[in-house]
Amino acid sequence: MRQSDIVVIGAGISGLAVAEAVHRSGRTVTVLEARPRIGGRLLSDPLDLGASWFWDGEQRVRAMADRLGIAVFPQHIAGDAMIDERDAVHRYPGNPIDGPAHRFARGAASLTHALAGQLPERAVLVGQPVLEISDDLGVTTADGTWQPRHVVIAVPPAVAIRTIRLPQSLPTSLMAVALRTPVWMGDTIKVVAMYDEPFWRTDGLAGAAISRVGPLHEMHDLSGPDGSPAAIFGFARASQPDGLDQADVRAQLARIFGPRAGVPRELQIQDWSREQWTNAAASAEESVPGAADYALFGHALYQQPQLGSRLHWSSTETAPHYAGHIEGALEAAERTVRAISACPE
Ligand SMILES: Cc1cc2nc3c(=O)[nH]c(=O)nc-3n(C[C@H](O)[C@H](O)[C@H](O)COP(=O)(O)OP(=O)(O)OC[C@H]3O[C@@H](n4cnc5c(N)ncnc54)[C@H](O)[C@@H]3O)c2cc1C
Repeated sequence: MRQSDIVVIGAGISGLAVAEAVHRSGRTVTVLEARPRIGGRLLSDPLDLGASWFWDGEQRVRAMADRLGIAVFPQHIAGDAMIDERDAVHRYPGNPIDGPAHRFARGAASLTHALAGQLPERAVLVGQPVLEISDDLGVTTADGTWQPRHVVIAVPPAVAIRTIRLPQSLPTSLMAVALRTPVWMGDTIKVVAMYDEPFWRTDGLAGAAISRVGPLHEMHDLSGPDGSPAAIFGFARASQPDGLDQADVRAQLARIFGPRAGVPRELQIQDWSREQWTNAAASAEESVPGAADYALFGHALYQQPQLGSRLHWSSTETAPHYAGHIEGALEAAERTVRAISACPE
């Protein structure tokens, strides 16, 4: 039996924010992460294949970046936008697609790397899918069982319910809500096209487009600070059974941004719908949530710790505000840390 005051399941931004805060307060913490890497939906390789932006008003993200010495820069939005219609591509003067937003100079995953860097060696264990949480809060992976005072499920609820045998004594109402709570962006493909230079900017374009034709339905500039490295990214919905056709993507980029856009130096396709630790849905149909299900974000049942105030839910989907965003993941972490601190030893 392994000991730790707190076991956090999931080394995404929410889990690592909890772990770093409870470590600072002097408690011992172990983070168990299923993937061979940390970060969850923050993945920068080198550009962001998961989250990339935060917005004005998201004070927790801003404060964390400041505290950890992470440089940020403004999203490039200057220039005209493009509208990709069935009959033609139209140039739209100005850019109604992008609003002001901020990016992380070395990618969003610099947040999770910096948080993990504050923890003691061996506090974060990767390649450790949690298989079971027992009624007495034993946490089991293939390598052993931990018996902590608090357990934090920093995993999207729908993924937790499908990948972890949860305590039998949890209320059935909670299990029903968790099963139906969508995973934010869990059905999305993000495509990153990298170039030698941001040539669209010289053409007076913002690198932003919306398309009614596809396969990408929305595109934005993803270049680094000062346009280097140069890149455009797009979102596609993960509905095609055979995945995204690279040739279709290149053709679309060329149609919208000109021939140079059709021959990127590198084309990365990150299909989050096929990532079992982000989207645990059993089928493609199941992975498309209904609009009503998004109302379950931040559900009241997630706000109350269970099992003698020792079991906590902490992923962006459990946040009453900013759910889906990095800011929501940090809000959930803050609530969890408060609940742990309020619990007598
Ligand atoms: C393509 C894309 C674009 C996005 N763009 C933005 C954006 O621009 N701005 C923004 O604010 N947000 C954006 N988001 C959302 C943002 O990424 C998330 O809100 C945030 O990263 C969620 O963090 P989290 O810690 O709650 O969950 P996650 O990052 O999902 O972390 C959960 C962790 O739990 C692990 N795990 C799962 N099951 C188990 C198990 N059984 N045992 C152990 N570990 C397990 C997972 O591997 C993962 O590391 C985007 C997301 C995607 C996918």
